[in-house]
Amino acid sequence: MLNCSTLGGKRVIPDDAWEKSDMTVLSEVTELLRRWDVWKRVEAAPERIDELERRLVNLESKLKRAPGEACPKCGALEFRTARTEPLDGQLGELGMTYRYMECGACKHTERSTEKPKA
Ligand SMILES: [Zn+2]
Repeated sequence: MLNCSTLGGKRVIPDDAWEKSDMTVLSEVTELLRRWDVWKRVEAAPERIDELERRLVNLESKLKRAPGEACPKCGALEFRTARTEPLDGQLGELGMTYRYMECGACKHTERSTEKPKA
């Protein structure tokens, strides 16, 4: 607290100046808290970056191979053609084929008949 001897030791700083000072302190504290919040995010960043990297690698590995169709049983995009073979007899001779689909996730299989491609 400042005293001024020329004014008989009375406090020369008006009370409203102290109020301003409180406001200054408050804004400084607010600023510090704001920075602390930023700092906490910075501190958490390496962990978040690691997590994002893991997710990216996971996505990349899924994109390496074109996704199959959605499995009608479990929904995984791993429903793919396992093999095709011609139908027996005349229909096979006409080019009709069985298409065996298998799900890579749940092993669900389906067989469909396909007409020859025009
Ligand atoms: Zn499946």
